[in-house]
Amino acid sequence: MRALTISAHGGTEQLEFRTDIPAPEVIPGTVRVRIQAAALNHLDVFMLAGLPGVNITPGWVMGADGSGIIDQIGEGVEGVSSGDRVVINGGISDRTCEFCKAGEQSLCVRFRLLGEHIPGTIAEYVVVPAQNVRKIPGSISIEEAAAFTLANLTAWRMVVSRANVGPTDEVLIWGIGGGVSQAALRIAKQRGARVWVTSGSDEKLEKARALGADETLNHRTTNVGKEIRARTGKRGVSVVIDSIGRETWERSLVALGRSGRLVTCGGTSGPMVETDIRRLFWNQWTIMGSTMGNDSEFDAVVKELEAGRLMPTIDSVYEIHSGRQAFERLASGEQFGKIVIKVAD
Ligand SMILES: [Zn+2]
Repeated sequence: MRALTISAHGGTEQLEFRTDIPAPEVIPGTVRVRIQAAALNHLDVFMLAGLPGVNITPGWVMGADGSGIIDQIGEGVEGVSSGDRVVINGGISDRTCEFCKAGEQSLCVRFRLLGEHIPGTIAEYVVVPAQNVRKIPGSISIEEAAAFTLANLTAWRMVVSRANVGPTDEVLIWGIGGGVSQAALRIAKQRGARVWVTSGSDEKLEKARALGADETLNHRTTNVGKEIRARTGKRGVSVVIDSIGRETWERSLVALGRSGRLVTCGGTSGPMVETDIRRLFWNQWTIMGSTMGNDSEFDAVVKELEAGRLMPTIDSVYEIHSGRQAFERLASGEQFGKIVIKVAD
């Protein structure tokens, strides 16, 4: 089958479009999806560079997000059938550990990711556990379906399940060019919050206003923390959504008001940060981590998708044989929204 692969870790030069990758076959409990489109996430760039404890076999298929049509059903699978149009949740859990049994699949002790521990979605076919797909209506475009799941699932857990954002909240979201940040903006607005967003590009901030952002700050030219304190009568925001890490951590905490909640789902600028614990306890902050989402959060976001809500902004679409250019676009940081790789019609 056709696939975008790597045979060694490194930069985008390692990406190779191949046509000789064996198509995966179903095993009991799984389904095979004929992929129509896949979408990129920041974790794909980390995967390309290499992650501790992750070993790939040459001809490794990249990609964690995707959508398509089921074409094979494994033994014992119920609720979905061949021909169903589906989106894929790229977080694979064992379904047997104590966290899975409690319904918290993204806390699974044997949590694995498509494209990282299991061959990914940027290929003609992918095999996943049946619990990792949900049917979607034919009215959703191929590109939107592919780009929807991981960003919305991650943002939903952060904004709804972890921070419990509501109408009285002021929310700061860093780096509004990214898919998770944009999903977080849409979800926070849907829940009635007032939302501040940042970007290093005025053009992206202008676009963010069109998505519903109430306040926009250029984090290259503005001292975000101080500016927010000044414009909120020194109160700060009640929630910060941060996926940038090292570059933004300190300013996130300057912006965070008393009893504030900070939720992080990543550290794209680096993982090590410093926190003044005197300010942590005095302000009675809650600092939370969040990773992807569980089955009920997957159901919740798919319900939104069915209703045509939280639709992702598509930055660009590449054909699978030009997949390397898609990764280069992601690595450049110039995108506004999701980068999609079209695999088939
Ligand atoms: Zn588990």
